[in-house]
Amino acid sequence: MKIAILTSGGDAPGMNVAIRAAVRYGINKGHEFYGVLNGYYGLVNDDLIKLEHKSMSGIISFGGTFLKTARFPEFREEANRQKAIDNLKARGIEGLIVIGGDGSYRGALDLSKMGLKVVTIPGTIDNDIYGTDYTIGFHTALNTIVEAMDKLRDTSVSHQRCSIIEVMGRECGDLALHAALSGGAEFLVTPENPLSKEYIIDKLKEYKKEDRTHAIVVVTENIFNVHELAKEITEKSKFTSNATVLGYIQRGGSPVPSDRIIATRMGSYAIDLFEQNIHSVAIGIENDKLIYLPIHIVLNNKRRVNPLYKLVKEVS
Ligand code: ADP
Repeated sequence: MKIAILTSGGDAPGMNVAIRAAVRYGINKGHEFYGVLNGYYGLVNDDLIKLEHKSMSGIISFGGTFLKTARFPEFREEANRQKAIDNLKARGIEGLIVIGGDGSYRGALDLSKMGLKVVTIPGTIDNDIYGTDYTIGFHTALNTIVEAMDKLRDTSVSHQRCSIIEVMGRECGDLALHAALSGGAEFLVTPENPLSKEYIIDKLKEYKKEDRTHAIVVVTENIFNVHELAKEITEKSKFTSNATVLGYIQRGGSPVPSDRIIATRMGSYAIDLFEQNIHSVAIGIENDKLIYLPIHIVLNNKRRVNPLYKLVKEVS
């Protein structure tokens, strides 16, 4: 079988590992592979390269995606998707692996409705995809955040400060939640666990009375203006405070082993599914077992709120 593979949407460490696994596992089973450059943009513009066993050499430790990624809103137009399908047909390519987040999954679902065999793999640091315990890139981003928190704590303790750290995650607080647990944060603010400024400031006043010397607040992006929050804390709570927005460094870096392992398992599983003629599905990992669900089920369901939220409070 001829199979194309693309990465789309936000990049995530470990995408290269998933590509490597699919290609090497697939070539060893007699399949042929094409890499699509720049996500759906490259699919529409027929920008494909042949991938060989040796093209995968050395990429296991590289962050980002060597196939590049792009945002291409025009992929919502059916005429563009038809062009993409025609391009693949002309090359005799029957299957497509899409590695990306939920936006990329929407494009994949549309393609599968038009008759293409598509399998998706969750590649996003946000861990915001239904039907998988973890997405590729999540653990690497978490590691970056916790390293930053450890450094911030050193200086917070020395200056008796309240440090605020803003992390990525969009509508999903998983990065903040796991960072709060791993980095020992006093406050966790996420879409699933909203805390008001007033609550944080009142608690900090109590901390001062208890002689607690520092505090860390972890916040998911798009909830507060963290610099204004720091100003208010400084004015009202007797803690001095400042805010660090971690930003795009969370997206980079060499993938940690747990991301490499799930990426390798998911990449090779995509080939197993094609061989069983199973497609229009999204791969996930649940309780350490690989699973697949129809893409539309994944897109139309929300992850349940993580039970670990309770524990953050209990250990703060
Ligand atoms: P992510 O995959 O990380 O969620 P985006 O939401 O930016 O990232 O989506 C990546 C790409 O997927 C978009 O640039 C677009 O090409 C494609 N896409 C997103 N939504 C749709 C849609 N509703 N229909 C078709 N393609 C879509």
